[in-house]
Amino acid sequence: MKYDVIIIGAGPGGIFSAYEMTKLDPSKKIAVFEAGNVLEKRKCPIDGVKVKSCVGCEPCAIMRGFGGAGAFSDGKYNITNDFGGTLHEYIGREKATELMEYVDEINCTHGGAGTKMYSTADSGFKKKCMQNKLKLLDARVRHLGTDINYIVLGNIYDELKDKVDFFFRTKIEKIEKLDDGYRVESADDSYEGKTCIISVGRSGSKWMENVCTDLDISTKSNRVDLGVRVELPAVIFEDITDELYEGKIVYRTEKFEDKVRTFCMNPNGIVVTENTNGIVTVNGHSFEDEGKKTENTNFALLVAKHFSEPFKDSNEYGESIARLSNMLGGGVIVQRFGDLERGRRSVQKRLDEGNVRPTLQATPGDLSLVLPKRLLDGIIEMIYALDKIAPGVANDDTLLYGVEVKFYNMEVALDSDLMTCHDGLYVIGDGSGVTHSLSHASASGVYVARRILEKEREQ
Ligand SMILES: Cc1cc2nc3c(=O)[nH]c(=O)nc-3n(C[C@H](O)[C@H](O)[C@H](O)COP(=O)(O)OP(=O)(O)OC[C@H]3O[C@@H](n4cnc5c(N)ncnc54)[C@H](O)[C@@H]3O)c2cc1C
Repeated sequence: MKYDVIIIGAGPGGIFSAYEMTKLDPSKKIAVFEAGNVLEKRKCPIDGVKVKSCVGCEPCAIMRGFGGAGAFSDGKYNITNDFGGTLHEYIGREKATELMEYVDEINCTHGGAGTKMYSTADSGFKKKCMQNKLKLLDARVRHLGTDINYIVLGNIYDELKDKVDFFFRTKIEKIEKLDDGYRVESADDSYEGKTCIISVGRSGSKWMENVCTDLDISTKSNRVDLGVRVELPAVIFEDITDELYEGKIVYRTEKFEDKVRTFCMNPNGIVVTENTNGIVTVNGHSFEDEGKKTENTNFALLVAKHFSEPFKDSNEYGESIARLSNMLGGGVIVQRFGDLERGRRSVQKRLDEGNVRPTLQATPGDLSLVLPKRLLDGIIEMIYALDKIAPGVANDDTLLYGVEVKFYNMEVALDSDLMTCHDGLYVIGDGSGVTHSLSHASASGVYVARRILEKEREQ
């Protein structure tokens, strides 16, 4: 079968490429290959009762399948160039913002209308943060929530399924360059297309590295963010979360001048585990549905670690630290802030006596045996800085789960069309290293679909 466009990966990047392409040119023959399942078959077996922790399903229902890693996410679509990726460096700030707004429009017309858009503009917290050596980053954020995000994805799939050939549970193993396009191979078959868009996200990062080696595409990889997920009573953070939903706050540590930042805030949410290539790390979710809300808020505190020559494998560094916590705790470790400060491990008895009821069953332990001192010192400094704008953050019973790792895919060398050195081979979304978020990944998908069609018209 010969296609006009082959898309590898049905995460936000791949979905929005297919969406825009079918909208602008319905005559195009498009195939989408996805290693995971169709949306309704994506079910993680962890139920907290029979299955309490990750059993390593293949494919992982959380990270793979229609909707990609974002399908069960909190559905926070941030419209900003301040974080979430560097798409603006390729296509310009104005264009990037316009595309993120367009993505928001599509989400709203597919079930997201009625959800709330938060904004930092005119927020009194900016000043309060500044007065306490913290910086609140500018953003607007559409909070779809896990439930509505799922509905939006379902509606987009229903619209696309008769216009696009979807191949689920079809992992592409290899890409071959032909004279007039590309051949992609799965375990059982091969398919050809004139143009190929790769959108394999974080779960496809190792595979992406191999593709770049095979096709001689340059890459670089030098960043990983490491830290903990903080869980505390929602009332402590409610002034911030009620107004902003998610405040992206950055702190520069006094000791090392490292940057520590809040990441992925989940008011009244739950802490969850995440499995990336067999390594269990921690993350968070929240819900629009009142019935599912908890009494806690959680967010990550991450320290960005940039490496210089000769070390190249920043992800391996992050994985090694996550492996250490898996080794000590059999998965995720939880520690009371008071125990960390007193230099002792947490034990179940002290957790049970505490005021914060954990939403994730994790192993009580000692994060100082896992995280390097420099990182942990930075996190502790930031907890005290946050305590000044939200008193109570530094309480003894505040829970810290570790480790949270934000892996960055290596950056693939791309031109301003997000095309590789090979004509007609594009890389978008988190797999390109250009984006790290739902809105940027989706925007990159729309952008490439438009550019492919524009270039065809120019020829
Ligand atoms: C728990 C969680 C919560 C999150 N919450 C948010 C949030 O609230 N806001 C936000 O902005 N971001 C959030 N993120 C990040 C966000 O989900 C990603 O930035 C986004 O999904 C990236 O989109 P993508 O299309 O580039 O890749 P992905 O969503 O990772 O999709 C890639 C797809 O490609 C498939 N694939 C990989 N390799 C192959 C192959 N060889 N052949 C075929 N298919 C392949 C995978 O199975 C996957 O489905 C969250 C992530 C997680 C894990």
